[in-house]
Amino acid sequence: MEIQDKQKKVIFLDRDGTIIKDGSAFWEEPHFVDHAKEGIGMLYTLGYEIVIVTNQCHIAKGHSTFEHFNSVNKWITDSLLPHGINFLAFYVCPHHPEGNIPELTKVCDCRKPLPGMLLQAAKEHNIDLKESIMIGDSYSDVIAGLRAGCTSVLLTDKFGQEPKWHKDAEFWTAPDLKAAALIAGLPNRENIDKN
Ligand SMILES: [Mg+2]
Ligand SMILES: [Zn+2]
Repeated sequence: MEIQDKQKKVIFLDRDGTIIKDGSAFWEEPHFVDHAKEGIGMLYTLGYEIVIVTNQCHIAKGHSTFEHFNSVNKWITDSLLPHGINFLAFYVCPHHPEGNIPELTKVCDCRKPLPGMLLQAAKEHNIDLKESIMIGDSYSDVIAGLRAGCTSVLLTDKFGQEPKWHKDAEFWTAPDLKAAALIAGLPNRENIDKN
């Protein structure tokens, strides 16, 4: 009998504005978004692996470097390891159609809202996209998630403190990662009456 590895369910997380505060990648030391650490801990406890998918067009524009990008990732990883949290993988889109670094200046298929990073992760890590969730603070995150076949959650406090399903747009909103983790923990999330 052929034994197949069980497919993983993951949380795809945007980085800037979702885990660390926007702009903080450029500060001396990054800062976590409120409730991000607790939220990631809750998601991890629910049995999800965590994959970071991040657009970093600053690299194409020459305003930042891969070295700096990696140093911020290391800061995040080092901050969460003591809590028993270890990310499965980081994926980055360093491209932009109007960049300054020639080899990174192009129309690519990894820049969110395109789902390239999620699809690549799925292939490389045997991920069940239907069971996975994309969480981010931009519409481009939500759209990338939906295009990949994932449940999507937009982090915004515009709709109050409770997670909310938006039927017409087919995605969830939640004020922060802790609230988003409640969505991930819903049994039969896909079957509940989402009215
Ligand atoms: Mg963001
Ligand atoms: Zn790209």
